[in-house]
Amino acid sequence: MTMENRIRRILLEEPARDYPMARRVLSRLPGVPVTVIPRREVLRPPDRRRTSWLADSKTTLLLAVQKGPFRRPCPGTPDYLCCGYQVLQTALGCPMDCTYCILQSYVNVPAVTLFVNVEDLLQELEQDWNASPGKVWRLGTGEFGDSLALDDLAGLHAALIPFFAQRPGAALEIKSKWRQLEHLLPLGPNPQVIFAWSLNPEEVVRGEERFTASLKDRLQAAVQAAAAGFRLAFHFDPIIYFPGWEEAYGRTVALLGEAVGSADIAWISLGALRFLAPQRSLILERFPASGIAVQEMVRAPDGKLRYFIGLRQELYGRLQEQVAAAAPGALVYLCMESPRVWDAVFGFHPQDDDLARRLDARVKG
Ligand code: SF4
Repeated sequence: MTMENRIRRILLEEPARDYPMARRVLSRLPGVPVTVIPRREVLRPPDRRRTSWLADSKTTLLLAVQKGPFRRPCPGTPDYLCCGYQVLQTALGCPMDCTYCILQSYVNVPAVTLFVNVEDLLQELEQDWNASPGKVWRLGTGEFGDSLALDDLAGLHAALIPFFAQRPGAALEIKSKWRQLEHLLPLGPNPQVIFAWSLNPEEVVRGEERFTASLKDRLQAAVQAAAAGFRLAFHFDPIIYFPGWEEAYGRTVALLGEAVGSADIAWISLGALRFLAPQRSLILERFPASGIAVQEMVRAPDGKLRYFIGLRQELYGRLQEQVAAAAPGALVYLCMESPRVWDAVFGFHPQDDDLARRLDARVKG
C-alpha cells in the first residue's frame, strides 16, 4: 500500500492551484474529491473535541502556500542541550498516526498540509546560503510531518536534493518512518543528503506507530539509500519503557548493525518519550489500548512529561552500550536532555555549542 491511498479528500487553497506541485498532486489523485477554499486561514479547528476530528484530519490533504519563512530553528528549551538543528516547514501534519505524536497537540488545521511553493523554498535557501558564507547548515524536513510519507506524491525532495549536491557545508536530513524512497535513489550519490529513520522495536511499531512501515522495511530502505550513495542517520526517539524493553531494544539495535555499516552513519540520537502534559488525556482517549500514557512521569521544566531521571539514565545507558557494540564509532547524542543526564550516560556534557559543532563536523564528512 502507498500512503497516498489513504487520502480521501483534498482541500485546495485558491492561491496554490497553479503551482506545479499542486497540479502534480491533483493529477495523481484523480478520483479524490477536491474543494477549493479561498485561503487556509478560513479553516478553523472544528468546533468539536480534538479527539473527534484528528483521525479524519489524517486522510484530508490541504494544498497551501507557505507565506512565512520555511526555515525555522528547532524549538529548544534552556534547560536541555540543543543541537542547533534547523527545520524546514514544508508540511504540517502526517497521514500516519503514532500514539505519542506531539503534532496531535498543536496542529489546528483538520488536514495534512503540503506547502506547494517549493520554488520559494529553493530561493530562500539560496539567499540564506549566499548571506552566510562558511556557515554549516543542518536542515531537516521531518519535524512538522514525515519526510517520505507523501513525497512520491508531492515530489518535494526530488527538487530539494540537487540543491545540496554542490554545497559541502550543508546537509539535508530526510527523516521518516516510511519506506518508499525508490523515486529518490537515482539522485544519489550525494553525501550531503542524510536519510534518517526513527527506529523502535517491532512490538512498539505495531502497538504505537499506526500506519508506519515495519522495522524491517525501514532498515531495508536504509540499505537502499546507502547503496545509492546517501548517508544515513537513526533516531531511537521516542524510546519507550515497557517490560522487556532491554531485550527488545537490544534486538533492534543488533538488526541495525547487521543492516548497515558505521561508516555510512552520520549520527544516531537517543531521546526518551516526552509529550506536553495536556496530551496525556488525548492519548488515553484516542488510544485506550496504548500503555504509554499510564506510565508514571514527571513534569519537566519545559512543561513536558518525561520519565523520571533515573529511568531515563538507565534507558540511555543501556541503548548507548548496545549501539556502541552494533555500530562501533558511530556518533551518538542525546536529543533535548539535561547536562546531568549527559554526565550520567557519557561521563561529560557538551559545553556551549559543542554538540552543534560535533554534528556540524559530520556534515563536512
Ligand atoms: S510518523 Fe512522526 S509525524 Fe507522523 S504521526 Fe508518527 S510521530 Fe507524528
